Amino acid sequence: FSTAVATEEEPITPPVQIDYTQLLINGRFVDAASGKTFPTLDPRTGDVIAHVAEGEAEDINRAVSAARKAFDEGPWPKMTPYERSCILFRFADLLEKHCSEIAALESWDNGKPYEQAANVEIPMVIRVFRYYAGWADKIHGLTVPADGLHHVQTLHEPIGVAGQIIPWNFPLLLYGWKVGPALACGNTIVLKTAEQTPLSALYASKLLYEAGLPPGVLNVVSGFGPTAGAALSSHMDVDKLAFTGSTGTGKIVLGLAAKSNLKPVTLELGGKSPFIVCEDADVDKAVELSHTALFYNQGQSCCSGSRTFVHESIYDEFIEKAKARALKRVVGDPFKKGVEQGPQIDSQQFNKILGYIKSGIEAGATLEAGGEKFSSKGYYIQPTVFSNVHDNMLIAKEEIFGPVQSILKFKDLDEVIRRANATHYGLAAGIFTQNLDTANTLTRALRVGTVWINCFFVFDAAIPFGGRKMSGHGREKGIYGLSNYMQVKAVVTPLKNPAW
Ligand code: NAD
Repeated sequence: FSTAVATEEEPITPPVQIDYTQLLINGRFVDAASGKTFPTLDPRTGDVIAHVAEGEAEDINRAVSAARKAFDEGPWPKMTPYERSCILFRFADLLEKHCSEIAALESWDNGKPYEQAANVEIPMVIRVFRYYAGWADKIHGLTVPADGLHHVQTLHEPIGVAGQIIPWNFPLLLYGWKVGPALACGNTIVLKTAEQTPLSALYASKLLYEAGLPPGVLNVVSGFGPTAGAALSSHMDVDKLAFTGSTGTGKIVLGLAAKSNLKPVTLELGGKSPFIVCEDADVDKAVELSHTALFYNQGQSCCSGSRTFVHESIYDEFIEKAKARALKRVVGDPFKKGVEQGPQIDSQQFNKILGYIKSGIEAGATLEAGGEKFSSKGYYIQPTVFSNVHDNMLIAKEEIFGPVQSILKFKDLDEVIRRANATHYGLAAGIFTQNLDTANTLTRALRVGTVWINCFFVFDAAIPFGGRKMSGHGREKGIYGLSNYMQVKAVVTPLKNPAW
């Protein structure tokens, strides 16, 4: 490897201190009712960064009561939409001011490159809050031309208390996708962060209160899934649930929501997205794009292009170039300048990924690059490329959630459409071609929520994102994201005279 590896050196001290580790309930930082804490770990070493208050069912009850009161008594849902908009704009300004500290927390807790957090993801969070701040005073219903002598209108109202559960791979970005639209519509929130990455949401939420959020409107509970997460999903006083994470947990929370009060649920789950490189593609560009589509964020993205389908006419050239690109990937301490890939999130994911690599080798795929752990400490894995991957191999079927690229060969469009769709997932797809007809055919045939043509990972705040099949229900971001947090009320009034 020609890398700037810092993993055998002392880890760089992150440029931030940990100020907030308690639960945030009713606008105040408080200990867990049990007094319990849990350690959040540095993926570079496995060492403890901080001990964080461990919220459980009783803390979820306290948080839901605070959110309920803030919704039922106001002022949040009763404030003018313009006032809510101003608070969200002020929050975005504060995020911008503190971008470097937040990025450092995000990188420290998660292991992602600091430059990626500071230059790409936190700016996207800021953008998403400005986007929804702009919507807050533009949400309104319709007048409906119904039959008969009636004046009919629809009111678009907030749903109430939203429960939100987020994972560890993009902690603050997914916070933004959930908190932004919920607040713009006038809801109150109880958010449960992932147990691996509690720090950045606590810091950001403190800024939201500094921006003028009334007490109890956003409550943040750190803790574990089967305790805090399950209590939130099954709470009778939570009016809506939004979840991002694994498909398995998605099924659990949907069940808990159904068994409790039938709260509506949006789910953003896993994927095994095809990245299709057609025979007319510019191979160099396609190699670079497929590399980013898989390796970005250590391969820990729900919509990674994790099945790279390459047309047989360019397959050999593609493999050589994909391998060379992976071997050039800079792995190392995420706080070191120029590093492209840090450690995986934790030992569990690390071992799971190494298990998938082993299964790929045993199943007869050709290991072109990587294949092993990368350092004696921390959860670093070599950028790994397999060629000669077949559809029935585990590495082609299951979500690896790591830096492992699986390259498959195809002959014609009908075949690649059938194979790309032969999965329970349906989150995203990449298409690389210069032929408009090919692009149109693939776009319409693929059963996914997003198609990127000659690009990948374009995540504008206005572009809806979500899955089909077992990748989830509902869409986040954009105008579509608002509908998750609104109720439509039809209002009918008799008219004395026909309209004229
Ligand atoms: P997970 O689904 O277990 O965790 C996501 C969130 O759900 C966390 O906040 C967790 O505490 C919570 N949770 C867990 N069990 C729960 C329960 N019983 N009730 C309520 N909430 C619960 O995901 P994970 O363990 O962090 O990762 C495992 C796999 O999930 C990964 O390998 C990957 O395939 C997938 N994943 C997908 C995404 C995505 O964005 N689609 C994100 C992270 C992980």
